[in-house]
Amino acid sequence: MSAAPAGYPRERHVPERTCVACRTRRPQGEFVRLTRIEGRWQEQTGNRTGRGAYVCSDSPNCWQDKRLRRAFGPQAPEVSALLARRFQSTQTNQPMTD
Ligand SMILES: [Zn+2]
Repeated sequence: MSAAPAGYPRERHVPERTCVACRTRRPQGEFVRLTRIEGRWQEQTGNRTGRGAYVCSDSPNCWQDKRLRRAFGPQAPEVSALLARRFQSTQTNQPMTD
């Protein structure tokens, strides 16, 4: 595999995904990818296996269980909590000066 030539339009190879909550299409990198493993939805960062669902990684509106219910059903509150926790830990990892 060789590097892409300079000036190659990167956009051509960015796969787009649709948020399950707000239905917005965005580049895959702007989503949290959730995968159902043994019947439970969880964040997946490694290999792409199984069925995936995408939720905006930067939009708390998309993490409300009401909006997630369509995609995750009874597990929506669980997924909602997972996304909120994930966001909080992202925040605390960043150096903050009041
Ligand atoms: Zn969204």
